[in-house]
Amino acid sequence: MKLYKQLILTTMSALLLFCCKSNNQKENTLNNDDFNYKIEQFGDLKIMRFQVPEFDSLTLKQKELVYYLSEAAKAGRDIIWDQNFKYNLLIRKTLEAIVESYKGDKNSDDFKKFMVYTKRVWFSNGIHHHYSSEKFSPDFTATYFADLIKNSDATKLPLSHAETADQLIKKLSPILFDPTLYSKKVSSEASQDLIKSSASNFYEGVTEKEAEDFYNKMKNPNDHEPISYGLNSKLVKENGKLYEKTYKAGGMYGKAIEQIVLWLKQAFKIAENEKQKQSINMLISYYLTGNLKDWDAYNINWVSDMESHVDFVNGFIEVYEDPLGLKATWESVVNFKDIEATKRTQIISSSAQWFEDNSPVDARFKKKEVKGVSAKVITVAQLGGECYPTTPIGINLPNADWIRKEHGSKSVTMENITYAYDKAAIGNGFMEEFANSAEEIEMAKKYGTLASNLHTDLHECLGHGSGQLLAGTNPDALKNYSSALEETRADLFALYYMMDKKMLELKLFPDLEVAKTEYMNYIRNGLMTQLVRIDLGKNIEQAHMRNRQLIALWCYEQGKKENIIEKYKKDNKTYVRINDYNKLRTLFGKLLAEVQRIKSEGDYNAGKLLVENYGVKIDPILHKEVKERYAKLNLAPYGGFMNPDFVPVMKDGKIIDIKVEYPDDYTKQMMEYGKKYSFLPLMN
Ligand code: ZN
Repeated sequence: MKLYKQLILTTMSALLLFCCKSNNQKENTLNNDDFNYKIEQFGDLKIMRFQVPEFDSLTLKQKELVYYLSEAAKAGRDIIWDQNFKYNLLIRKTLEAIVESYKGDKNSDDFKKFMVYTKRVWFSNGIHHHYSSEKFSPDFTATYFADLIKNSDATKLPLSHAETADQLIKKLSPILFDPTLYSKKVSSEASQDLIKSSASNFYEGVTEKEAEDFYNKMKNPNDHEPISYGLNSKLVKENGKLYEKTYKAGGMYGKAIEQIVLWLKQAFKIAENEKQKQSINMLISYYLTGNLKDWDAYNINWVSDMESHVDFVNGFIEVYEDPLGLKATWESVVNFKDIEATKRTQIISSSAQWFEDNSPVDARFKKKEVKGVSAKVITVAQLGGECYPTTPIGINLPNADWIRKEHGSKSVTMENITYAYDKAAIGNGFMEEFANSAEEIEMAKKYGTLASNLHTDLHECLGHGSGQLLAGTNPDALKNYSSALEETRADLFALYYMMDKKMLELKLFPDLEVAKTEYMNYIRNGLMTQLVRIDLGKNIEQAHMRNRQLIALWCYEQGKKENIIEKYKKDNKTYVRINDYNKLRTLFGKLLAEVQRIKSEGDYNAGKLLVENYGVKIDPILHKEVKERYAKLNLAPYGGFMNPDFVPVMKDGKIIDIKVEYPDDYTKQMMEYGKKYSFLPLMN
């Protein structure tokens, strides 16, 4: 599970953080005020960079480990492209051939539009918007596209045997330019066949019903340690027969997986300790066999490794892109511990049982014994697959419910990423436009970063890890609503406790103003500002956005009589104000109890109603207003990060050091990746 950056933009400049040691430290170790966090902006996107503070304080072995794991993180890049849509690799290679070899005018407006389109495709790992999942249209014509291809070097084009440029044009034009074709990556419209209406590449020739039956048949309700059925495969129907094409060495995506394994083997040799060695070895085994039992075994070992300084995620993990929530996209994050900031999360995780026992949830749905909740703050070194370039700011893994219950989970807050987000947003005018008062802006400046980091800690470390399913409940019962409801649950857990005196007792912040700041930011975002990310006339699709509106709108409606949350107009602009923080907290608790019940009992209908009634539809008048106000600020609602490069310094054929470099040319990085990490055939 993951937490993504909300559209809450605060500035660090005037920060007086209570818990600011780590930030000061970062400031000192970076000591580089000139670092350019924001690289460029196009479409609705901005490209940023993050720094890797303390990298130079790692031992040579740890640096090497980061380097090998970073290569493994990039080696699987093609996989996510193909998973997102089966023609993505073909399209990417065509676009890259044009960027590299087009002989026409590269200064024309059309070519500039072509570059914007190409960069958007790179950003989204395909032709569907990374967040809304809608196919985005080029701003140039199909005729121009044909001209680009014809005037590029044919030897660089991804032409299959005996194929001509004209045939390639004919194949690609409808895919790019017909808005009705493959219009959505992941459909969540329950009225349609979810598989047929989704362009993501997890099924071929299979209906939703057939896929459900296929996996339901495998499940045994008495199995307390079920594998994650279908997680690492494509389900295909051929000649009337259904079968899985498994992602593994020698299988589907084999060529990329074999490269990942090569780098993991290098990492294995210099792992920090036995436990980590074992983890890497188990992951290699899983990649070789594709056996999901091996995947579980790896996760159980990995989750208990708290000691290693360098750590990583690498695998088929999150199921947000599969409309049925079974199949996982490939991703990787390489990181190492931020020791100073981790003290904060250790305080939280060591009180995990207290939080579980005191939550407003029905006792039957609580974990009697919270196991191994480990939380740390990490410094991200490299992003790969689904996490590049749009990274989460927090991760909690593994995802399998029974492993979480029996063995616990590892939760991380990615602080150098949040830090870079905040730095890149300095002085952008967002809060000034949407906040309800000058006081609110001041509070956001003063407490915003701490509040949002603590929310992430609570969401990841406690929220996702809390609660349990009733015996016999099917973990997939909530189907297409499960992701949104799971994020709702974790957010509510965080919000509920944010305002608890326990936070003061644990000295996590100096006073409840921090919690109030988070409440304001959350509600303003959920009711209003996150709408800037959505095109007019569209519904909310993305799980995290659904969950945020669900919570904010539900509380707004429930508290209407008492005016707990107030919407009002000033100079024709809508603002949101919280009038009673304590009552709002009570509402968070009430909704948390209900969402936990829905999950624990697998109450699909109640879950569906909550999401559909509060999380999906948008007030069109407010939407238009918010979009217009936002447009004046000339900001991009989505951001992603370039990766740093790790460059080995060699002497006599041996690595004697690894240097970290921060490239600042996004196109160059993308073209390099396209050449260096392209291992899969065009169609898989
Ligand atoms: Zn989450």
